[in-house]
Amino acid sequence: MRVMAQMGMVMNLDKCIGCHTCSVTCKQAWTNRSGVEYVWFNNVETRPGQGYPRTYQDQERWLGGWTLNRRGRLALKAGGRLKKLLTIFASPKQPQLEDYYEPWTYDYDNLVQAPPGEHVPVARPKSLISGEDTQVRWSANWDDDLGGGPELTRSDPVLAAMARANEQVRLEFEKTFMFYLPRICEHCLNPSCVASCPSGALYKRSEDGIVLVDQDRCRGWRMCVTGCPYKKVYFNHRTGKAEKCTFCFPRVEVGLPTVCSETCVGRLRYIGVMLYDADRVAEAASAPEEHDLYEAQRRVFLDPNDPVVAREAERAGIPRDWVQAAQRSPIWALINTYRVALPLHPEYRTMPMVWYIPPLSPVVDVVRETGVDGEDAGNLFGAIDALRIPIGYLAELFTAGDPAPVTAVLRRLAAMRSFMREVNLGRPTDESIAAAVG
Ligand code: SF4
Ligand code: SF4
Repeated sequence: MRVMAQMGMVMNLDKCIGCHTCSVTCKQAWTNRSGVEYVWFNNVETRPGQGYPRTYQDQERWLGGWTLNRRGRLALKAGGRLKKLLTIFASPKQPQLEDYYEPWTYDYDNLVQAPPGEHVPVARPKSLISGEDTQVRWSANWDDDLGGGPELTRSDPVLAAMARANEQVRLEFEKTFMFYLPRICEHCLNPSCVASCPSGALYKRSEDGIVLVDQDRCRGWRMCVTGCPYKKVYFNHRTGKAEKCTFCFPRVEVGLPTVCSETCVGRLRYIGVMLYDADRVAEAASAPEEHDLYEAQRRVFLDPNDPVVAREAERAGIPRDWVQAAQRSPIWALINTYRVALPLHPEYRTMPMVWYIPPLSPVVDVVRETGVDGEDAGNLFGAIDALRIPIGYLAELFTAGDPAPVTAVLRRLAAMRSFMREVNLGRPTDESIAAAVG
């Protein structure tokens, strides 16, 4: 056993209202600079939707894709210039500025002096980068405006794949659904950005697992941009270097939360320390079946309350207050004790460390179809079956398509709501609810 400590985050998606306060405060703190105008270390995606950069989840379809990338890794064994060429060619597609969005501003002088028009503002937006007039075609949250059944299928790669596989996707207009998915770098246990950097500029800190870019060593190869399946490394076109979310390490080092967590309006971000067995990471990341990857990653985590683990952690030089922090860690509780958090796209095999509590809402369907809602003690399981968000969709996001863990989480969440309703009403709690919560 080789015990290591890792910072991580769990986000409760039922509580995100899509206000983007996290994104804006992160931008003010980290990317309010020339060269990174288009960059959002923290972004909030509308789901279903294409994401940011758009179609980042659909990399099998891109020229090269992961399949060719595997050939590229074979080519690595060849060595020399051929190796470099093949690796560049074989990397998944490099997103272009328009896949993120071209940051724009208005010509404010013209805005004030422009003749009145039918709509305001009347001035044309200008590119923040070139200063030219720009036609805004895409932005970080464009999907918010794309509601509707067929459009959803077309715009979201996950839904489109489900539709191709003829899975039941309830997309009639009256049953459309949406929720928000805030994303930062996953600070993966098995980070492909680190593995793909030819300059050794990307590294994972041994003390807390935060993944950073050494700006002095970065040579601007951008292999990390293509190599990260979550597309969470960005190229600064002024400095010619890669940049990424730092998990606000200067704040974390003095005991403060990340900016996005501190300013989150929904209070949905839980930060904590996890202890894990570094010797088990490689084996877990290469589990032969994709649907095993969620459980495989969970098994890499170590129980911080186990005296053997605590002793091994001390031997490994992990400070006692970090072990105590791991014992109190809300993310350990949400992932392992309550088992309500799931990783995003475990099939990418990088072992992400930002996990999500999937959304139980909305429950409108339940009210109409069964006369109860998701918090009704007597009808918990019926309520789950009538949920509007297809469990298959959540499974594609969080468990590589396996619906069983998602269903179990949603049942637990519904049971917890029901339990708290009974408690708040001062009524005796139903034993079956307590069993479902347990
Ligand atoms: Fe690297 Fe991407 Fe993982 Fe972040 S999400 S650690 S950038 S592979
Ligand atoms: Fe969601 Fe919180 Fe960000 Fe608002 S600040 S968009 S509630 S994660």
